[in-house]
Amino acid sequence: MPQPVKTGIYKARLSYQRVKRFAFEASHPGSQFGCNYCGTKMGAFMPDGEPHQILVDLQVLSAGVREHCRCPHCYSKDRDRLIRFFIERKTHLLSEPNTVLHFAPEPVVRKWFNSLNNLVYINADLDPMLADEVMDITAIPLQKESVDVVICNHVLEHIPNDGLAMRELFRVMKPGGWAILQVPISPILDKTIEDLSDLSHAERERRFGQRDHVRIYGKDYVERLMSIGFEVKQIEPSSFLSDTEIEHHGILAQETIYFCTKS
Ligand SMILES: [Zn+2]
Repeated sequence: MPQPVKTGIYKARLSYQRVKRFAFEASHPGSQFGCNYCGTKMGAFMPDGEPHQILVDLQVLSAGVREHCRCPHCYSKDRDRLIRFFIERKTHLLSEPNTVLHFAPEPVVRKWFNSLNNLVYINADLDPMLADEVMDITAIPLQKESVDVVICNHVLEHIPNDGLAMRELFRVMKPGGWAILQVPISPILDKTIEDLSDLSHAERERRFGQRDHVRIYGKDYVERLMSIGFEVKQIEPSSFLSDTEIEHHGILAQETIYFCTKS
């Protein structure tokens, strides 16, 4: 697609979102909810998520429709707010020099990282509209052991050869480095379900909950990561947030963080 057309569509979408957000904020006054990116207090976060039945049936976390998901002011999602708290409370990312590789950067997280002077911040996507660098996660153009921290959320479920992507992330991480690798995951599915064949968008939505997803991860996600060499800690929000904070910031209490290290 020629770039000007794409840019035009992108700008039109942004304007529509702005109007929608403004209308939502105006119609939900209050202060019982709050965003840890923009500091806005509000009567409600905006609902968001994919409306497909398979996500309900398999209880897939952070993928189906969530009532309190998007901040109407800065557009942070529930999982963006969770990650920020985790990084602030459980890592040294803010206080030490670090080289960070961030795939498919969430806009609010990217803006936050860009404001941190202690980071060498590399953000990348296949789509040049969405990040500073164009990169294929299955062939990362970086030296081995060159980054301290990898952030890669809700990417692997799009990648047919996710094992190769995991190996690439592991390769570029320094020993002692860490990664947050979140995916939509079903806590009731023992084995990941996937289909790499040429399916229609509708069929992918029906089977995997989104038009461009090739799988839904199950409990074997951790084994997949460990088989690459990662050590994986599963960290629950309640271990670093109070119940009140979880509720106030519209965070999913069940959303485990997959904290992966390289020894
Ligand atoms: Zn916000």
